[in-house]
Amino acid sequence: MTSVHELIRTAAQQEASRNNTVSRKPIALRATGVSSCDSGLVRDPWAIDRAPGYGPGASLDDTVPGSAPRQGPLPERYTSASDDELRQWIVAAKEQLGDRVQILGHFYQRDEIIEHADFVGDSFMLAQAAKDHPEAEAFVFCGVHFMAETADILSGPEQAVILPNLAAGCSMADMATIDQVEDCWRDLMAALDEPSREDGLQPVIPVTYMNSSAAIKAFCGRNGGIVCTSSNARTVLEWAFERGQRVVFFPDQHLGRNTAKDMGIAEELMPLWRPHLALGGNTAQQLRDARVILWNGFCSVHKRFTVAQIEKARADYPGVRVIVHPECPAAVVEAADGAGSTEYIRKQIEAAAPGDVIAVGTEINLVNRLQQQHPELTVFCLDPVVCPCSTMYRIHPAYLAWTLEGLLAGEQPNRVSVSDEVSRDSRVALERMLAARP
Ligand code: SF4
Repeated sequence: MTSVHELIRTAAQQEASRNNTVSRKPIALRATGVSSCDSGLVRDPWAIDRAPGYGPGASLDDTVPGSAPRQGPLPERYTSASDDELRQWIVAAKEQLGDRVQILGHFYQRDEIIEHADFVGDSFMLAQAAKDHPEAEAFVFCGVHFMAETADILSGPEQAVILPNLAAGCSMADMATIDQVEDCWRDLMAALDEPSREDGLQPVIPVTYMNSSAAIKAFCGRNGGIVCTSSNARTVLEWAFERGQRVVFFPDQHLGRNTAKDMGIAEELMPLWRPHLALGGNTAQQLRDARVILWNGFCSVHKRFTVAQIEKARADYPGVRVIVHPECPAAVVEAADGAGSTEYIRKQIEAAAPGDVIAVGTEINLVNRLQQQHPELTVFCLDPVVCPCSTMYRIHPAYLAWTLEGLLAGEQPNRVSVSDEVSRDSRVALERMLAARP
């Protein structure tokens, strides 16, 4: 059976030859049987890096904060190279660098990057891989900016963490800046001005999803708070409720809401905090009544999934099993048969019986790879429109080749460094998470 990925690739190659242009990365195209969210996805990322915004893909309409790092121009040697040349240069550089350099590849990266990765995983698994390899001099993190920061926090001070393209941020993480979070905290403290309680519970515990800046992780560490991942969010919220009357949850409202709903907390006790409004757009009473205050952030990839897509999948494939990521809206999680982290989704697919049909609500590169790895199953993305994460898309083999050859030349291009103070406080919040038990 021809996979969607192959269909897209073939369509893009046909289009490229019609236009007599070179289209090296045919991630998506409006083609027979396949539609994409933006035809600009066939352009190479260095063309997009020069324009404002995140570029085509799921984050297209999100606003990049002015403080987000930008990527400088890539030398012409890399932008004009063919796919084969780039692959050869990466393989040759990797061979010469040996164990000195480890390439970490997030599940959502394109196949042309994953083929070179020493470790493939989610953001926390990759940060752990960095921690577990003290012998490596450098890690090339093929993912997004907050992930490289977390790897820098957990790795040794002499080890360099390199992000091949600095424009690879995360639009969800960028929806909460440290200044906004500090303003929110100050306003919350004023609104929740309560006498200290005999039970010793704090008025509010800050909890941040792994998908946030190091500065916000450090803020949580300094203020009695904690970090969570999509696999341990419930355990972390239980930890927080043992210490506080309420939680303020950054930056993904959907993970926060889905987890709290699963714990039996009513939606009316989960006000949304909109950072540009006084008291986040709430009354002081709503904040006092709250159990979980949700930051108004979201993942533009997972926000695309809808209940209508699930209904269509069920109509088209009777007996289909629908599994989604908890960054999806609550109605989608409720309509699905199961929801969980990327690791949960992978395990569900590994445990499926031959012939099973599984519709998945998560990032397209991962879904296509799972189908390729499991030809005995039918695995497809709930969203019929091909729309990868714009920011993950920014890591192209040309950037990987450039960073590896830079390391070979003794340079440290695009090193991501977190200050000692921020690292120290972030580690406090990360260690609380590791110690939290269900
Ligand atoms: S998939 Fe969503 S959460 Fe993940 S990097 Fe992209 S925008 Fe951020």
